[in-house]
Amino acid sequence: MKRWGIVGGGLLGLTMAHRLAQAGQQVTVLEAAPELGGLASAWQVGDVTWDRFYHVVMLSDRYLRRLLSELELDAGIDWKVTRAGFFTGKGLYQLNNAIDYLRFPALNLIDKFRLGLTILYMARIEDGRRLEAVPLEDWLTRLSGRRVFENIWRPLLAAKLGDNYKKASASFIWSYARRFYAARQGGMKTEMFGYVPGGYARILECFAALLAREGVVIQTGRPVQRIVPERDGFTVTSGETAFAFDRVVVTAASPLAAKICEGLTEDERRRLQGVTYNGVICASLVLTRPLGGYYLTYITDRDIPFTAVIEMSSLVDAQQQFGGKTLIYLPRYVTGEDVFWGYDDVEIERRFLEGLRRMYPDVKADEILAVRIARARQVYAVSTLNYSDNLPPMLTSVPGLTIVNSAHIVNASLAVNETMALAEQTVERLLAREAGAAPANTEPDPAPLVTAT
Ligand SMILES: Cc1cc2nc3c(=O)[nH]c(=O)nc-3n(C[C@H](O)[C@H](O)[C@H](O)COP(=O)(O)OP(=O)(O)OC[C@H]3O[C@@H](n4cnc5c(N)ncnc54)[C@H](O)[C@@H]3O)c2cc1C
Repeated sequence: MKRWGIVGGGLLGLTMAHRLAQAGQQVTVLEAAPELGGLASAWQVGDVTWDRFYHVVMLSDRYLRRLLSELELDAGIDWKVTRAGFFTGKGLYQLNNAIDYLRFPALNLIDKFRLGLTILYMARIEDGRRLEAVPLEDWLTRLSGRRVFENIWRPLLAAKLGDNYKKASASFIWSYARRFYAARQGGMKTEMFGYVPGGYARILECFAALLAREGVVIQTGRPVQRIVPERDGFTVTSGETAFAFDRVVVTAASPLAAKICEGLTEDERRRLQGVTYNGVICASLVLTRPLGGYYLTYITDRDIPFTAVIEMSSLVDAQQQFGGKTLIYLPRYVTGEDVFWGYDDVEIERRFLEGLRRMYPDVKADEILAVRIARARQVYAVSTLNYSDNLPPMLTSVPGLTIVNSAHIVNASLAVNETMALAEQTVERLLAREAGAAPANTEPDPAPLVTAT
């Protein structure tokens, strides 16, 4: 049995802790924030407690649902067919089936045909690795035409990547589309989205209780500043406190990991610092009444300061979960250089509410009960050109030190399911090494993880 220190109490760190503890290891999780969950943590907006950033579960989320079963929460998932909308600047249109598509005014018939062919073509690609060498915008423009790119693809990409779509490779859209195809069920051909009543607050509470029963030690409010390899294990320091571990796993974003880990090679540092991250600035709003009833509304109008509208109450039972109120999210996915990082909450709120009123002129000031702004600088790594070739190694050159995070989710989009798949695959590899004759982490890092739904 080894003493494992896991830096980061997000779902990656917690899932790894769970699987390591099940394998009989002694595990401590150190989380910088006062609460567990990282991007999936919950907070309060007005009198509504829900996820800081919106989350859905998909029917096809195999890894996530297995964990939810272990927590005895899977059977309670509330599943729904949701609707999607498109705001073009001239109006709000629904886009859910063939009839909506034929009526959609932003594309002519030829454009619609080209877009349809592009999607069919994408669905037939089995391995997206070769697309890593192809610039995303060029690929989509070649396949669908400039007008379709501007009216459909750009808003879809901006809703997830902000301006970073200009740096991304074609593998991004392929992997994203794959998660959505996987969600389409048999004859229904309709996406089913779900949520656990109580949201991630409840999931995390049950997860923490399970980990405690398994003997995992969890310390929150413990930002790790230094990880120093010793002759025999590691010293990990957080403030005045030092911890001794035999093995350390860092789940923080790559540039943060580079800052706290000592003993890495120059090449490892360069790779860790070279990952391009997409961030998000996201407003949560509690309203007295529903908006348009679309779970997700894409936005083609470039003057709107957020990149999508997520109406959570179109999925979640508002009466039971939100006391009859409406919860919406306005995310702005951004590059690290975006001007909005320089604005305070008041300014962001002002600009976002102005944008919301342009989309929904009938929303009155007294119908908005509460607003809260969340920020996350490192949400996920942008799949830039030849991404896999430049990935930082997970099993580092420092024996016993592993650095793993969402940057290692390759050719698949970021979601809790993929995060958990990554956790399980990594633990499997680490335990295999422990079981083998070779000391940990002295073999070269095998190919990066390709997680599939
Ligand atoms: C806007 C948004 C929408 C999303 N929607 C969905 C969705 O609908 N469905 C879905 O499945 N997924 C969704 N996701 C993705 C999901 O949230 C992630 O897949 C998952 O939370 C990633 O977990 P993680 O542990 O890898 O990272 P994180 O949650 O970022 O965890 C890393 C943790 O490390 C901690 N840390 C960093 N540095 C240190 C340090 N020095 N010392 C100690 N601790 C440290 C951080 O505080 C953090 O808690 C969404 C994410 C966002 C942002």
